[in-house]
Amino acid sequence: MKIIINNNPAYGDMGPYKAESFEALADEMEPVLKDWANESGSKTVEDMRAEFIRGLTEIVLCLYCDMWIEKEISDEVPATDDDEEWAELAKHHEGDCEWVATRAHRKDV
Ligand SMILES: [Zn+2]
Repeated sequence: MKIIINNNPAYGDMGPYKAESFEALADEMEPVLKDWANESGSKTVEDMRAEFIRGLTEIVLCLYCDMWIEKEISDEVPATDDDEEWAELAKHHEGDCEWVATRAHRKDV
């Protein structure tokens, strides 16, 4: 397995990273994880490491509103006119998320 994380601001400004496994990538990113732990004020580097690895496997970052979303939820794209499903989905994004507002860029706002 080869993982390459490009210059996504969510991963700090030190990328791109290349690694053979999620664990190796977390090793590589140790300084960034330390910063995140310090910034959080309550989490340890180990917490951040676990969260980071979980993030790579189970959650994804919404590129529009910067919210971390369960991959299972993020993979769902309701029909444009399914107001109920979109209202449900909106709970997982920031209030002004462009992706939600435009219903995945299929609706003018
Ligand atoms: Zn969003």
